[in-house]
Amino acid sequence: MSDAPAPDRVLAVNVAIDRTVEELDRVFTYRVPAGWSATIKPGMRVRVPLGRGRATGLIIATALADPVGLKFFDEVLDPEPLISQAVLELAQWMADRYHCYLSQALRAVIPSAVRRGVTPQREEEVYAATGRRQGRPSRRQELWEWLTVRGPSPRKAILEVFPGAQDAIRALQREGTIKRMVPAGQAVASGRHILNADQGAAVAALEDGQKGIWLLEGVTGSGKTEVYLRRVASAVAKAQQALVMVPEIALTPQTVARFRERFGTMVALWHSGLSAGDRVAVWEGVRRGTSRVVVGARSAVFLPFARLGVIVLDEEHEASYKQEEHPRYHTREVAIWRARREGAQVILGSATPSLETAWRARTGRIGWLTLPQRVEQRRLPPIDVVDMREELRSGNRDIFSRRLQELTTRTLAEGRQVIFFLNRRGFASFVLCRDCGQAVHCPSCAVTMTYHQTGSTGARLECHYCFRVMPPPPVCPHCASRRIRYFGAGTERISEEVARLWPAARVMRADRDTITTRQGYTEFYERFSAGSADVLVGTQMIAKGMDFPRVGLVGVVSADTALHLPDFRSGERTFQLLVQASGRAGRGDEPGHVVIQTYNPDHYAVVHAKAHDFGGFYEQELQYRRDLGYPPFEDVWLLELHGPQEAEVAAAAGVLADNLRKRLPDARVLGAAPAPISRVRDRFRYHILIRSRDRQGVSAAVRALGPDDGMRITVDPYNML
Ligand code: ADP
Ligand code: ZN
Ligand code: ZN
Repeated sequence: MSDAPAPDRVLAVNVAIDRTVEELDRVFTYRVPAGWSATIKPGMRVRVPLGRGRATGLIIATALADPVGLKFFDEVLDPEPLISQAVLELAQWMADRYHCYLSQALRAVIPSAVRRGVTPQREEEVYAATGRRQGRPSRRQELWEWLTVRGPSPRKAILEVFPGAQDAIRALQREGTIKRMVPAGQAVASGRHILNADQGAAVAALEDGQKGIWLLEGVTGSGKTEVYLRRVASAVAKAQQALVMVPEIALTPQTVARFRERFGTMVALWHSGLSAGDRVAVWEGVRRGTSRVVVGARSAVFLPFARLGVIVLDEEHEASYKQEEHPRYHTREVAIWRARREGAQVILGSATPSLETAWRARTGRIGWLTLPQRVEQRRLPPIDVVDMREELRSGNRDIFSRRLQELTTRTLAEGRQVIFFLNRRGFASFVLCRDCGQAVHCPSCAVTMTYHQTGSTGARLECHYCFRVMPPPPVCPHCASRRIRYFGAGTERISEEVARLWPAARVMRADRDTITTRQGYTEFYERFSAGSADVLVGTQMIAKGMDFPRVGLVGVVSADTALHLPDFRSGERTFQLLVQASGRAGRGDEPGHVVIQTYNPDHYAVVHAKAHDFGGFYEQELQYRRDLGYPPFEDVWLLELHGPQEAEVAAAAGVLADNLRKRLPDARVLGAAPAPISRVRDRFRYHILIRSRDRQGVSAAVRALGPDDGMRITVDPYNML
């Protein structure tokens, strides 16, 4: 830029320091000591002098720099880069897009086990049951049956359940009733289907399209998974890697099993339940390319694929794809960014796509494929909507409408299973005094305490926000009246009602009180599949991705739980839940039935769910989003300030909102106002909501506020409470 002669330049590295403090959230430059210049690459960690101490950092780039005042780094810590150039750029993009420190983004993309240099676990032998075996009750028979139900399992998992069963495994293998699964490179071809016309067309378009983003919109039971399997197989055949993302591994055991079945040990799983050693092993396998197919939850999107061919995002509408803590990324957005950068394809699959994705497909921004029918002409179940106001008027004060009772009795008599959904765990969602009308609130949060009747600790009140537990009060804490009543039925209460109304039925409950571990979930799933219960009562935990062929009836006890939440996605959530829940009925050869109970039978989410009409719902929801200025028409940012003193938080939030209004005259800045849940864990919470079409402008203004410990910035929030 100036005419002054350029000073002598030396080889240097730009480094991101691995600490999350504002002063260090910039790039530091160090000289490269003699001997290291041939070694260094972006993505390697280095030890550097910092202030009066030492720190670890990651090389972002190499550069030529003016040596004046430049310190040398001490040493390089990794023989090879921990992350590829592409993932490094991804982290930089995330820090910018989601308003976090680069060090936070880098921690998200490099698992801590890898940073700590944990030794990888040796790859496991995987066994699967084959054929039939009719033995007398014995340990061997038990092992074989267990493997049949559970699907292909690593040796370690088998030995956990059957300690010391090495001999039994060998004997069964000799007998030919279990087999060791083929090693990487050769697919296991069992369980294939002949594609129907819609599936065939979808597979052809995806093969043809190669790169690019696609929505695969297929009703529940339309065979989307088979389409993924074919596309993944063709990627593997071209020596590419495939990533299959599911909302939560434990909740989608069938999807996992089907990939395992088709691709054998080529498949690696990535989820929060892995040990550190397993994590490093998967990470290494992905980097070396020996793991060709990864089935994983959220953070699998950061794995170091060398030759990424395709990313599948199953149930792409699921809110769990949004990370709630820094960096608050959306997996879909990250997957798309990454696929564009690495020349891969993205398939977004769902029966109820997010409005944003559906809109992009319908406006030609991304590809659009549909599977409008269930496989083999199976019909979508008829849905009855019961108006609970009518029930009340005609004198039925029960949780179950007459229609639901009648169908339940009939379904059970036919020997088929029934599922009841209610998105509320516990027995009663609030405790109310009939004399003074006051409810029992959590002392630390602005929410009512939920009554739990059973469980390891016995009857108790629990706060579902801070998990504080207290004994149920014998009298009203406000006026000492004894007339305390419990309102707002939860899953516990439903189970009790089922036991009362159908005493012969075996009831199982699935919610976060009864199922706390992955293992617990798998067991529950197997038991219900095997028919060891007639009725399943559960929260949305069981609404997704389950295929229980014996279920003849699904009852949604209340469609209203999510409908009135102060969130622009509440209609969408309700529609999705209703359709996904209905999708659990009639998946076998017999048709099924669905009953939806609601006080809002005319709400468009209910009306369109009843008709299995995503298109109709989409049109109406889109109009609402357009009128009010929500995604996909405008972007949303949620700023949350919190602190122990309400007045201080309110004042700071007010000043901030006014500043933002001045800086962003064209954006809509709402608030500051108390958050819908105005206090959690004794901290008062204030919200500011920004809506705008100008993503760059708002991002810049928000970034100028600087990261702050007392503030939470969420881009495209999924939790508005
Ligand atoms: P979705 O993921 O769309 O809900 P799935 O992929 O789970 O649907 O398919 C539903 C069921 O139909 C599965 O049991 C699957 O094995 C079976 N299926 C898939 N494709 C076919 C096909 N072409 N012919 C017969 N059955 C199929
Ligand atoms: Zn009272
Ligand atoms: Zn609380």
